[in-house]
Amino acid sequence: MKLYIVSTPIGNLQDITLRALQTLKEVDFIAAEDTRHSLILLKKYDIQKKLLSYHSHSGQMKLEKIVGLLKDGKTCALISDAGTPGISDPAYSLIKEVLKEGIEVVPIPGASAFLTALVASGLPMNRFVYLGFLPVKKGRQTLFESFKDEKRTIVFYESPHRIQKTLNQMEEILGGDRKMVVARELTKLHEEFVRGTVSDVKSEFEKRKPKGEFVVILGK
Ligand code: SAM
Repeated sequence: MKLYIVSTPIGNLQDITLRALQTLKEVDFIAAEDTRHSLILLKKYDIQKKLLSYHSHSGQMKLEKIVGLLKDGKTCALISDAGTPGISDPAYSLIKEVLKEGIEVVPIPGASAFLTALVASGLPMNRFVYLGFLPVKKGRQTLFESFKDEKRTIVFYESPHRIQKTLNQMEEILGGDRKMVVARELTKLHEEFVRGTVSDVKSEFEKRKPKGEFVVILGK
């Protein structure tokens, strides 16, 4: 009767802790965001385990099924496609429900893209705000306006399709001089940090078609 929140790699499959592997081996079942995707990791570490899908569109029934199994005394490891479940990934509804039932929730720490990016960014990391994904349409302008007075480092996730638009908007609203970093494809073969001012980074991504996964970090 325990739910383990297990962090998995954000790219490099070696970025998983011994404790995470042991937990995945020992639980009764694994709830995974995308079972096919997670099989790649599980196969690499020779873990054969009953898999149940749990993703952002999973309804109340799936949630109740997992809670029911936990109440029957089973142990479950929750994993997402990458990184830490709950960080811009499904987990919150399940964790809330599980705690309400008096079931223990055990975190197994590991990789998360925002922290991995932040620590190598070269921007202050003693105080920062993590914003997840920015709104796609409404609210963007107001949010960028609010960055003007923010003294803490700002970290958020962005898709390759929107990164150029985001950089354009940032330059337009914040000016081109603030320091920023775009971290791309962390822990993977093409890992890259583009560091500079907002204008520098914007110009860099005008030269090429943005590909891969991105973390954006903005200094004060
Ligand atoms: N749970 C994950 C975590 O702990 O970081 C985040 C999941 S969120 C659905 C996926 C987003 O995280 C991607 O669109 C990208 O912005 C960021 N991300 C994930 N892996 C990344 C990587 N290897 N390099 C850069 N950004 C990454």
